[in-house]
Amino acid sequence: MANYYNKDLYKILNLNFDATLDEIKQSYRKLVREYHPDVAGENADINKFKEIQEAYEVLTNEENRKKYDVLHGFYREKIRKQEESVRKNKYEEYIKKAKINANTQENFTKSINSALDNLFHSGKGSSKTTEPKRIIHGQDININISISCFEALNGTNRKVNILHTQPCPNCEGRKFINGSQCSMCNGSGQLSLQKKINVKIPKGVSQGSKVRIKKEGNKGLNGGKDGDLYLIVDIEKNPYFNIEGNDILCNLPITPFEAVLGAEVSIPVFGEKITVKIPSMTSSGQKLKLSGLGIENNNKTKKGDMIITVQIKLPEKLSEKEKALYNQLKELSKYNIRKDLNNAK
Ligand SMILES: [Zn+2]
Repeated sequence: MANYYNKDLYKILNLNFDATLDEIKQSYRKLVREYHPDVAGENADINKFKEIQEAYEVLTNEENRKKYDVLHGFYREKIRKQEESVRKNKYEEYIKKAKINANTQENFTKSINSALDNLFHSGKGSSKTTEPKRIIHGQDININISISCFEALNGTNRKVNILHTQPCPNCEGRKFINGSQCSMCNGSGQLSLQKKINVKIPKGVSQGSKVRIKKEGNKGLNGGKDGDLYLIVDIEKNPYFNIEGNDILCNLPITPFEAVLGAEVSIPVFGEKITVKIPSMTSSGQKLKLSGLGIENNNKTKKGDMIITVQIKLPEKLSEKEKALYNQLKELSKYNIRKDLNNAK
């Protein structure tokens, strides 16, 4: 797809999407005087001029402009405006006729109603603009999104690329018109547009949860609803945190002296730090449960827990003095920690 598809060509030329060819030419000439390197003097801007030139070339080529308009929804809007003005003219005409024909209020109402009936329910073979349009709803799009555990706990933003499709407005998704292949969509029945959008993933999502972004699914046609976009969350594994249902599981490293003496340690979670009290004489593998510090369930009626598993870790290096102190401890300690192991049968 040409890269100008993602630009707002009308804005570049200071125009509305329904600008006429004359208006496009007029605006182009004005902008050339403002930015062209040969005529604009110190205001000249070669990059801006190139953009203007590109927009002008696309929009003055009938076929390219139509393609561009279709992809950006302008084509549909133009057709809608044209139909509206045809309908409005017809309506006014009928009102005029009805007024001439009606002598009394009752007759006037009857006359109007039959005029409107003719206008909106005209039979087959009438002009194309009054044919009832097929309403097509856009489908939902599901995409997988991988986030870290930290992001799941704290919330995050992502830019995602989505391929939106919409039913072809020319053949209304039927692929063929009067037996021949539709020329606008080349018989595929749909048109696609790549779009980058920013999505917000709220804090506290759990594995496999679906985040709904309204109306960013595939586009509807003729008043049909746009689909929604669903992000299906995959939480990457992490050595310290894991999320299970609504519980947060945390592996907490502590030093041997914290295990013996007890400590207050802080853990980063939900964008803030929580303080956890480790009781003295805590062994490796011991679990601590912090009620209500997990994730809210979907209907926000209950919160999970945080379950901490303590792991005693040794420093990578010990100084000579530390080693000497451990030696002293060894000399002092009379406790046989493997007494039960030795007696095991
Ligand atoms: Zn088509």
